[in-house]
Amino acid sequence: MKPSIAIIGAGLAGLTLARELNLHADITVFEKARGIGGRISTRRNEPHQWDHGAQFFTARTKPFQRLLAPLISSGIVAEWWPTIISLETGEMPVKRPWFEAHYVAVPGMNQLLKAMATDLNIQLNTRVVEVQRRRDKWQLLNEHAELLGEYDWVVSSAPLPQTRALLSAELPDEQFSHYRMLPCYALLLAVDDAVLPDWDAAKVNGTPIRWISLNHRLPGRNPQAGAVVVHSTPEWATAHLEGDQEEVKQQLMTAFCELSDVTPQSITKSQLHRWRYALSAEVTEPENEFVLDQQQCLAACGDWCVGGRVEAAFTSAFQLAKAIRKQLT
Ligand SMILES: Cc1cc2nc3c(=O)[nH]c(=O)nc-3n(C[C@H](O)[C@H](O)[C@H](O)COP(=O)(O)OP(=O)(O)OC[C@H]3O[C@@H](n4cnc5c(N)ncnc54)[C@H](O)[C@@H]3O)c2cc1C
Repeated sequence: MKPSIAIIGAGLAGLTLARELNLHADITVFEKARGIGGRISTRRNEPHQWDHGAQFFTARTKPFQRLLAPLISSGIVAEWWPTIISLETGEMPVKRPWFEAHYVAVPGMNQLLKAMATDLNIQLNTRVVEVQRRRDKWQLLNEHAELLGEYDWVVSSAPLPQTRALLSAELPDEQFSHYRMLPCYALLLAVDDAVLPDWDAAKVNGTPIRWISLNHRLPGRNPQAGAVVVHSTPEWATAHLEGDQEEVKQQLMTAFCELSDVTPQSITKSQLHRWRYALSAEVTEPENEFVLDQQQCLAACGDWCVGGRVEAAFTSAFQLAKAIRKQLT
C-alpha cells in the first residue's frame, strides 16, 4: 500500500509537492480558502479583474522552466514585456530596462495553479488547526475538532507564521527562527483606460506605494476594463496593519492619484486587500530549501524557505519532494 501524505495549503508550493509525489503516495491537499492559488491570486468583479498577489514571475532554474514549457506552448503562461518606469513624487519618471523574461499566467495569474491542479485530491474550505501524533500516524483536525484523516506524512506549505503555529509542538522553533514574513496592502481600482498613464507598470520609491500595475494591459486580459493594482511597501503596511481599513484605502488612493495624475472622480470601483503574510525577507544563506524531520515524517516548504518569490515557492517544494521520494523508496 502507498504511504499517505497530507499537504496543508494549495498555493504553488503545496501543488508542486502534490504533483511531484502523486505517483508515489496517496496525497490529500487541504486548503482553507474556497479556491486554490494562495498568493497567486485573481479577483473578479465583471468586467474587471485584478491579480492582487504575485504580479509576474521569473524562470531561472531548469526544473521551473520544465514546468512552464508546456504551459507556454498552450498559451496558459505568456511572457510580459511591459513599459515599466521608476516613479517618485515630484521627480521625472525614469524608464526601467527589463533584462530577463518575466512571465504571467493567462487570463489571470491563478490560471497557473488551475493548470497544475488537475488529477489532484484537494479539499477546499478546510482549515487545519491541529496536527497531532496518535500511535504511528499523524491526525489532522479542523476548527470544529473534526478529524480530517490519518496520514503517514504531514507537510505544511502555509506561510511561515501559520506553519510555525501548526508544527511548533512537533518541531524545534529554531527550525523557523531565521525566516521572516512581511505584510502588504493591495489596492484594486477600476479606472477608464483613457485617463491612465501610457506606462504599464511602475516601481515606486519614497511613498507608501512600492508598485503600480495597469493590470488590464497584461497579456490575455480585457484591455477595455481598466484595472489598476497598487501595492504598498511592507514597511508602510506594517505600520498601518491594524489601522482603520477605510483610512488605509483612502491614503493609498491619494498617493496613487498624486503619482499617476488620475483624479479620484475617475475611479469607479475600489477595494482593499490586506495580505498579512505577503512577502518573505530574502534568506541570505538558506541552510535548506525546506524543513524536514525524517524521523517524524514531518516537513514544511514554501517561498519563505528560499526568498519570497513564485519561483522560490516552486524550488522549495520541488527540492522537498525529491528528499521525500528518496525516503519513500
Ligand atoms: C502582494 C504580493 C505581491 C507579490 N508579487 C510577487 C511578484 O511579483 N513576483 C513573485 O515572484 N512573487 C511575488 N509575490 C510572492 C508570491 O506570491 C509567493 O512567493 C508565492 O505565491 C508563495 O507560494 P506558496 O505556495 O509558498 O504560499 P501561498 O501562496 O501563501 O500558499 C499557502 C496556502 O496555504 C493555505 N493555508 C494557510 N494556512 C492554512 C491552514 N491552516 N489550513 C489549510 N490551508 C492553509 C493558504 O490559504 C494558501 O492558499 C507576491 C506576493 C504578494 C502577497
